[in-house]
Formats: sequence, C-alpha cells, structure tokens
Amino acid sequence: MGVHPALRPLLVNAVELRRQPGASRRVVTEVDAAELGCESPVPGVRLEGDVAIDLTAVSGADDIGVTGSLTLTWIGPCRRCLSGVERTVIVEVAERFVPPGHPAIDERSDGATVIEGDQIDLAPILRDLAVLELPAAPLCREDCRGWCPQCGAELSAGACGCETERSDPRWAALDGVVLDEPT
Ligand SMILES: [Zn+2]
Ligand SMILES: [Zn+2]
Repeated sequence: MGVHPALRPLLVNAVELRRQPGASRRVVTEVDAAELGCESPVPGVRLEGDVAIDLTAVSGADDIGVTGSLTLTWIGPCRRCLSGVERTVIVEVAERFVPPGHPAIDERSDGATVIEGDQIDLAPILRDLAVLELPAAPLCREDCRGWCPQCGAELSAGACGCETERSDPRWAALDGVVLDEPT
C-alpha cells in the first residue's frame, strides 16, 4: 500500500487482532497535521503542528472497535477583528471496523468501516474527524466586537469615542429642517 511513512503508525494489523477476540492494541503517536492532510475551505483556517493520537483497538467477536482521542490545534483569523485565533481541542473517537460482508455495512447510520486487506488504516477516519473540528468562522472570543468602521480602533479594548449611532447620509438633507412642535 502507498501509505506515507509519517502515517504508517496509523496502520493496525487487523489479521492479528481478529485472530484473538479480546486482544487489544494501543496506538499512541503524533502525526504532523500537514501529513494527515486536512483541508478547510475557509481561507487561513488549518491544523497547526502535530495531532496527538491515543487510540486503542479492541478485537470483538465479529468486529474491531477503536476508541480514544485526538488532540489537535487549529489556527485561523477571527471573523470580526482578523486577529489570529488558535485553539486546541480534544476529539473523542469511537469507531467500528468490520470484515467485508458484515451485516453492519448496510446500516449506514451505524458508521461501520469495512476492513480492506490485512490492515486497518486509521488515517482517513482521523482526517474526517479533524476536518469537522475546523471552524467555518473563527471568533477570537464570543464578545469580540471587531473594529470601529470609522476610526479602526479595536472595540473589544474599549469604546473609541466615535458616534455609536452613525448618521445615515439619506437623512442628512433633513438636518437643519425644523419641524413644527406638535400642539
Ligand atoms: Zn476578534
Ligand atoms: Zn471609532
């Protein structure tokens, strides 16, 4: 198989595991996020550094369960103030791998993955899970107020002193018009 050397630790010998129900194999490794190949459609948003992987594959009666966690860091620009945002998140993993012909394959909702050949390749599943963590619109903080459109001050740092209610140019013609006081 044409597996990149960096992703080789993510291959689990399925034949060995299936031979002994109850047997388990732990996979603890770090993979360069760039090698994992998670792509976000959002400009500037991407995984950063290494993805820490701590998974245990357990051989069941007719399947192999993989549980554990991924720890990953993403970076991207805040959608309001454009400052760099960096977040580290822990993603729970609970996946099931079954041999070809297993009844679970037809139940799409079950999410079982077919074991192809002698190895379980964890990389595609980890890639899919990691992509789900990449934000569509990063925020540096929930109450980020962005920049003042008039003076460019960062509003989260405090009010800039500009008029908070911007005058609408369509009403400028009415400035100076004196209306009769209602009687
Ligand atoms: Zn912000
Ligand atoms: Zn201002």
